[in-house]
Amino acid sequence: MGKTCTQCQAEIAAWNEKCGGCGYTLVLEPDEVVQQRRLRAPALGALLFTQGWCFGARLYGWFLLSLIPMVGIIVLPIMVLFGRRWAWKAGGWADRKEFEDRMRLLDALSIIWISLLVAGWYLLRLRG
Ligand SMILES: [Zn+2]
Repeated sequence: MGKTCTQCQAEIAAWNEKCGGCGYTLVLEPDEVVQQRRLRAPALGALLFTQGWCFGARLYGWFLLSLIPMVGIIVLPIMVLFGRRWAWKAGGWADRKEFEDRMRLLDALSIIWISLLVAGWYLLRLRG
């Protein structure tokens, strides 16, 4: 965060390769390339547990949308594809570490969540 364009000094979001102000293509440091890749990677947690992921990622507007049954289906792929980038931009994270830790936590929680769902479904089947 807090990067500026070397051409026009406009502030540039960390995941962009081009300046939004002047279109200048930026030379990225290896560290930034790694971060970009992470931000562009699909969000596993959003795939498995969209509502919980949106909330934990501080995308509260999307969280509310994801609660609406038919809308939630559309929110899922959007969050999987763009969620990390938007969460990083909008979440007001103290630093990258806080953000990355939260992303890892959410992925782990989503795996637990889906495991519980599968276990619950299996138990119901055994009973019924
Ligand atoms: Zn620029």
